Amino acid sequence: MSHEFTRELEIAIDAVRRASIVCRGVQSGIDGDAISKDDRSPVTIADYASQAVVCRSIKDAFADDPIIGEEDSAQLKDADGDHYLPQIQSAIKSSGHSTDPTMIYESIDFGNTQDYSPRFWTIDPIDGTKGFLRGDQYAVALALAIDGELEVGLLGCPNLPYTGDSSSAGTIFYAVRGHGTWQLPIDDPSAEPVQVKVSQEADAGQMRMCESVESGHSSHSDSARLAETLGIGGEPRRLDSQAKYAVVSRGDAEIYLRLPTRPGYREKIWDHGGGVLCVTEAGGTVTDAFGKKLDFRHGSMLIENRGVVATNGPLHESLLEQMEALGVLAKYD
Ligand code: AMP
Ligand code: MG
Repeated sequence: MSHEFTRELEIAIDAVRRASIVCRGVQSGIDGDAISKDDRSPVTIADYASQAVVCRSIKDAFADDPIIGEEDSAQLKDADGDHYLPQIQSAIKSSGHSTDPTMIYESIDFGNTQDYSPRFWTIDPIDGTKGFLRGDQYAVALALAIDGELEVGLLGCPNLPYTGDSSSAGTIFYAVRGHGTWQLPIDDPSAEPVQVKVSQEADAGQMRMCESVESGHSSHSDSARLAETLGIGGEPRRLDSQAKYAVVSRGDAEIYLRLPTRPGYREKIWDHGGGVLCVTEAGGTVTDAFGKKLDFRHGSMLIENRGVVATNGPLHESLLEQMEALGVLAKYD
């Protein structure tokens, strides 16, 4: 596939692959006995290591591109955070990038941009940290936006099985605007990408809905009311991270809802950039809860949007209407 963003895509796939492998290495080292449930150190280590790896790869290739990332190194540099450094260095080793502390801090802080620019990348080094700690789904998410339009979007999903013609533990999804959505096994860089499409299901009774595991991130009670009202009958699925966008993009679910739990919350761009393009390029529809396109022209937050609705298409308008009818939208400020 050749297009205007061939080089960006090549670098981005490589970066997401390396970061996914780094995260998998850290996750496999989480030992239920050794680390208490509320110990967040594995996610801290993997978060920083993943952001360092992706940002270094992007900046080596595109030195002038700003990156809006979730993490910065300020906390890591203080006395408390410093004890993570050796583990971060060890986590980064498999990526082939420098493990020099100054280089690591610099790499992390490449992702420090806050403000909007006409061309920028956004990265969530580990989306779905709760899933990561539970040993469930999480994602390395990366997107390139130009003039507010998502041009390239990727999700590295180390725990989402690859469904193409190879058996691999994890999957990379990528999309380029106008060129479809594709999946690759994380562990086989030479594999031919396989195109994915959203489900063709138009019968609500057969549709499968997915949502956050965490009820604090999306209202489970409102999604249950919507499912009942609209007769959505398929097996619902709760999973962490943008793996929800990934499963909708390859037709393993028809609907992903992100509904308000409280007024005032604004979605972060890195929680959506990678996933949104994967769904739209696979033929699906993504809007906010009011039917508006997600607006990536306001820095790190989707300040003009509320909630997210991603679907394979047929039920999209009905979902938006019922959300209003059931008073879900009244929760927004
Ligand atoms: P999920 O894996 O779907 O639960 O989403 C994880 C993401 O939810 C994190 O990356 C956070 O940025 C985001 N998040 C945190 N608090 C909230 C909230 N109150 N509403 C929606 N999303 C949130
Ligand atoms: Mg996130």
